Amino acid sequence: MRVYIETYGCARNRADAEIMEALLVNAGFKLSNLDSADYVIINTCAVKDPTETHMHRRIKELLDDGKKVIVAGCLPHISLEKIDNRVSAIIGVKSINRIVDAIRLAEKGIKLVDVEQKSLDKLELPRILKSRVAITIPISEGCLNACTYCATRFARGVLKSYSPEKIVKWVKEALAKGYREIQLSSEDTGCYGFDIRTNLAKLLDEITSIEGEFRVRVGMANPNHVIKFLDELIDAYKDEKIYKFLHLPVQSGDNDILRRMARTYTVEDFEEIVGAFRKEFPELNLNTDIIVGFPGEDEEAFQRTVELIKRVRPDKINVSRFSLRPKTLAARMPNQIHGRIAKQRSRILHRLRLSISYEINQKYIGREVLVLTHGHGEKGGIEGRTMNYKDIILPEDAPIGEFLKVKVTKATATYLMGEILGS
Ligand code: SF4
Repeated sequence: MRVYIETYGCARNRADAEIMEALLVNAGFKLSNLDSADYVIINTCAVKDPTETHMHRRIKELLDDGKKVIVAGCLPHISLEKIDNRVSAIIGVKSINRIVDAIRLAEKGIKLVDVEQKSLDKLELPRILKSRVAITIPISEGCLNACTYCATRFARGVLKSYSPEKIVKWVKEALAKGYREIQLSSEDTGCYGFDIRTNLAKLLDEITSIEGEFRVRVGMANPNHVIKFLDELIDAYKDEKIYKFLHLPVQSGDNDILRRMARTYTVEDFEEIVGAFRKEFPELNLNTDIIVGFPGEDEEAFQRTVELIKRVRPDKINVSRFSLRPKTLAARMPNQIHGRIAKQRSRILHRLRLSISYEINQKYIGREVLVLTHGHGEKGGIEGRTMNYKDIILPEDAPIGEFLKVKVTKATATYLMGEILGS
């Protein structure tokens, strides 16, 4: 029987899809393209309302085309009741190990629906890994926050950290297979280990003590946890194996809005963390996230966000408009902001962030940098990453999966370009 997995959303969803593919292949199923598939597994994302709408439309489209559809991912945990009744099975993010059951039962006319919140050790499950240079290793599932706008936590649940031993074992196996970049991912790497009496800094120390020429990318970490072990984390980051990259979502420049979001840190906390990292790593590549149009965000509050961005000058900002998510506190808050205003604000921030990124990237022109090449770029050339995780495009003949000395020749707001000096 032939199956096709269509995946949406974050690194964890992509890692979940690699696990489902491996379980299916080990059970004798064939991975195929969409047209020849007997079953289509749509591995959904529902982080925002427009994304959820797209998922429902895509499910209907596949069913109308006569496909047998299995719904996986976060949507079943967020809007189960809205999923088209014609689907053959529904499994949640903690039930991906039942994908084979789901198809076998569907073949008998039984519709499996399993969205239970349960513990599933995904590091014990096989995976069919896509890239051959960088590997995503989930270090935990879920988080310790209760952000009022977030529905993802209904899917990913409360923090469950994987043991450092298991993670180190995965890293060593990946390096033995030739991987050169380890991407540590979770809903919030900042609270990694808080449930097993350790933390991210200790985990990084264990990983960087492994022999070999490789780099580690640390996934998104929330300020309210990072501030608890800031010095320890900065110490761990000093190892050259750690990309000098920090993804620290601030979400708003207004403390009252942060309180309404239940983010449990202040703008001052955010700036303290950024200041401490930049003092040690002047070349830090800072990424952050901003939500505009959160209920109660008046013009003054928005201006505080603009001022924060002008003060901190992040290398990259993921700007998103507030999106009503089912069953969240923010969905029931008064003073909802009109979509037109939210759109205006996201445009203002997007322009600001591009001008800042452009100015920052100009200073790299003419400099020599070390680059790890990943693979063919979408727009041609060979895509790579500098040691502070800046995106850089090299000539087509650059070897893939290598550390190369490069001279930066051009810079845009979103990527650099360079010529190879040597390996
Ligand atoms: S940290 Fe907040 S936004 Fe992120 S998954 Fe947890 S509750 Fe959602």
